[in-house]
Amino acid sequence: MQMFLDGAGCDSLSGSTLPVYNPATGTVIDTVPAGTTDDVAAAVAAAENAQATWARVSPADKSRILIAAGALIRGEADALATLLTTEQGKPFREAKDEILGTAHIFEYYASMTGSIRGDAAVLPKYGYMNVVRKPLGVCGAIVPWNMPAIIFGWKAGAALACGNAVVAKPSETAPLTVLRLAELLAAAGVPGGVLNVVTGSGASAGDAIVRHADIRHVSFTGSVATGRAVSLAAAPTLKKLTLELGGNDAFIVAADADIDAAVAGAVRNRFYNCGQVCTSAKRILVDANCVDAFVRKARNAIEKLVVGSGLDKVNMGPLNNPGQRDAVAAAVDRIVNEECGRLIFGGKKQEGPGNFYAPTLLSDVSPDAVSEEIFGPVMPVIPFATLDEAVEIANGTPYGLGASIWTKNMKTAYTAAEQIRSGVVWVNRHLILPPEIPFGGTANSGYGRENGREFIYEYTEPKSILIGL
Ligand code: NDP
Repeated sequence: MQMFLDGAGCDSLSGSTLPVYNPATGTVIDTVPAGTTDDVAAAVAAAENAQATWARVSPADKSRILIAAGALIRGEADALATLLTTEQGKPFREAKDEILGTAHIFEYYASMTGSIRGDAAVLPKYGYMNVVRKPLGVCGAIVPWNMPAIIFGWKAGAALACGNAVVAKPSETAPLTVLRLAELLAAAGVPGGVLNVVTGSGASAGDAIVRHADIRHVSFTGSVATGRAVSLAAAPTLKKLTLELGGNDAFIVAADADIDAAVAGAVRNRFYNCGQVCTSAKRILVDANCVDAFVRKARNAIEKLVVGSGLDKVNMGPLNNPGQRDAVAAAVDRIVNEECGRLIFGGKKQEGPGNFYAPTLLSDVSPDAVSEEIFGPVMPVIPFATLDEAVEIANGTPYGLGASIWTKNMKTAYTAAEQIRSGVVWVNRHLILPPEIPFGGTANSGYGRENGREFIYEYTEPKSILIGL
């Protein structure tokens, strides 16, 4: 596929391309242009040219365009989901959920265009104060490979609703669905230049977006290490950043929890998208009084998971790329070899083509052994004795994105929700993220929020006007 600049497909000025692989087979399914600094400069020029006019489009017309985008995405949901599965690896059912969720994101932002406003007050002696929220201008969106459609939707939907123009860069290992979404947004009426997608590597196209002086905001989702690099590269141009850098979510099961519901929730959430979600249930903390029953029931459920190509009827697909699969395998091997946990099920790569790794269950895991997130299909179970200890373990990593507490007791729920350091806490749920919920983290999980009303603060800036009386 070509990249998408100024309302049309085009190649990189360099003429180079990058292959896109099917993670289930290892075969090349397409190529995309290997964008460079020059392509980013061309995209930013087109975006700058188009943004002021887009900012003046009425809220009602912006809303109509975003609603039309949602309808076009829904109309093409099966084809988009197939494309997403083919480049990303997830089961078709999950891909379709993500595509429909992406349509809903644009519809959600369509409903918000008329609510983007500031504040006003009469200041005796001084005058009448008006604070209006102004769009930032051109915004960069750096999108990872794990949930490319919906994360693109979060960033582009919010930026467009606020009157900004966008230069997006999808990951080189999952760029195709984002490119097709950009075409559909254009078909829905987003004017040429307002939304651009530059493909290419993070080190080249991504870095060029972060460094570009005329890009006033970058929303980045990815790893802590790259988030730090983005932060340093952005500093000279003093642009705003929204950084979502992953998490190591605790999933705490209290002794009074509905164990069957907790097991089902843990298995569903931990192996969703082959465990490659920033706010997956990555550490399962279970009260020592019920941990044996939990592990037994979890094993029964995990044994039944069908693994294979996401285009077949499976519960779990491959990891997105070979490097990711190797990192997960190394993390499990280290835990088992250093006797920091017991292997109950899985723990091995699947022979043959594709980036497959068995769904894996580890018990008696030492909290320190999983202080770094494992971004793959691995469920480490950590026993705890008291709620205080569970909260201490939950907070014992550098991350702070999400967490959940499974209990029937309101006081236990409230205590955990209050004391866990994270951007979101669920009670008897995990990984539920409708666009109404502001989403983002604290500490090494980054800063800023996407979704909710909070997006308005990310993608606009206040301008104060004082009218003397
Ligand atoms: P990265 O953080 O490197 O990649 C995320 C995005 O940033 C991709 O679009 C990537 O492009 C781009 N990128 C890479 N380098 C730069 C740069 N210097 N400047 C600007 N953009 C850049 O993550 P990885 O893909 O390497 O995955 C490694 C780990 O990151 C995972 O194991 C997981 O722990 C975490 N991760 C977290 C995610 C989350 O949802 N928070 C999502 C994905 C990964 P490209 O891929 O083309 O290089």
